[in-house]
Amino acid sequence: MGSLHGIQGCLVDLDGTLVRGRQMLPGANVFLESLEGRFVIVSNDAEHTPLELSRGLKRLGLTIAPHRIVLAGATALDEIARWRPRARIAMMASKSLMIHARALGLVPVQERPDVVFLGRDRHFSYERLMVAANAVRCGAELVVANPDLVHPGPHGAVVPETGALLAALLACTGPVPCRIIGKPEAALFEAGLALLALSRNAVLMVGDNPATDGEGARRLGLRYFELRDGVFPEISARAPCRDPAGMLALSA
Ligand SMILES: [Mg+2]
Repeated sequence: MGSLHGIQGCLVDLDGTLVRGRQMLPGANVFLESLEGRFVIVSNDAEHTPLELSRGLKRLGLTIAPHRIVLAGATALDEIARWRPRARIAMMASKSLMIHARALGLVPVQERPDVVFLGRDRHFSYERLMVAANAVRCGAELVVANPDLVHPGPHGAVVPETGALLAALLACTGPVPCRIIGKPEAALFEAGLALLALSRNAVLMVGDNPATDGEGARRLGLRYFELRDGVFPEISARAPCRDPAGMLALSA
């Protein structure tokens, strides 16, 4: 990992970095406090809204405002609403993302959708697969929250993720173009960077997964700190207002 000189803010992964399962990881709250507000969470979560997640994290002891949380599922819907306002959308998604889509002016439908959206749908079924596959075959645009196949569950179990549902869909359609929003693709990083409002060379991506956090950071030209053994980047206590360069001093 290179120098951290000049870093002024962080994009921070969630699962495996700040929390695991239903537990906050040691040092996560101290690390966020040390950033003095200059961070945005970027997570491939494809099921919750930022508000829901903020409330869930609070129960684990992490206080993070919803406007500092960028999630793949909710961001995908934000992007669809921007690209195609009031689009008819077939949703393989949680109830809360369906509510989010309606709030954005999108119209969830089962027939003749303009867009098929694939999130982490715990009620994914034969019927939903049939709707999605045929809509995509008929020309609906396919938007996928994240490409992850599984994420680690308790006691060594795996939890199926959105990419596993995508694999089922592609088994029916064959290769089709799709837009993927989650890491390592650029959209989530770009949404986080827009919130930080810092130049890319002043932003550090902090995560635990070289294939998503690291690869995405590399593509966007961000520096990357990979958590190993739960060790966070160390930030000096120097207040930025007393630092002539306006920089945080970090050391790996
Ligand atoms: Mg992670």
